[in-house]
Amino acid sequence: MKLPACWSCKKQFIYGKLLLFWGGRTICPLCEKTNYLTPESRKKGAWYTPILIILMVIGLNMFDIGFSGIILYGLIFLLIGLSLSPFTFKFTDENEPLF
Ligand SMILES: [Zn+2]
Repeated sequence: MKLPACWSCKKQFIYGKLLLFWGGRTICPLCEKTNYLTPESRKKGAWYTPILIILMVIGLNMFDIGFSGIILYGLIFLLIGLSLSPFTFKFTDENEPLF
């Protein structure tokens, strides 16, 4: 898996910065160009969450883990989802509409 790179200077973004990336755009620290998420990667991200939730529900039905177990399980899933999400990002120079 590779981290996404700036569309302009091709420099890879820092993982920690992508992890805190929520707004759909980021500014390259090197060339200071604005990078927007491509519609494809935004769609991918939209699919990602329900799949994660479905997996979580399936997991919860398989084990009788109690309330604190459910919270812990949810947190672990959230962390895994968050830590993998930067790899699904792709950037472009235009803020394209989703549909
Ligand atoms: Zn750049």
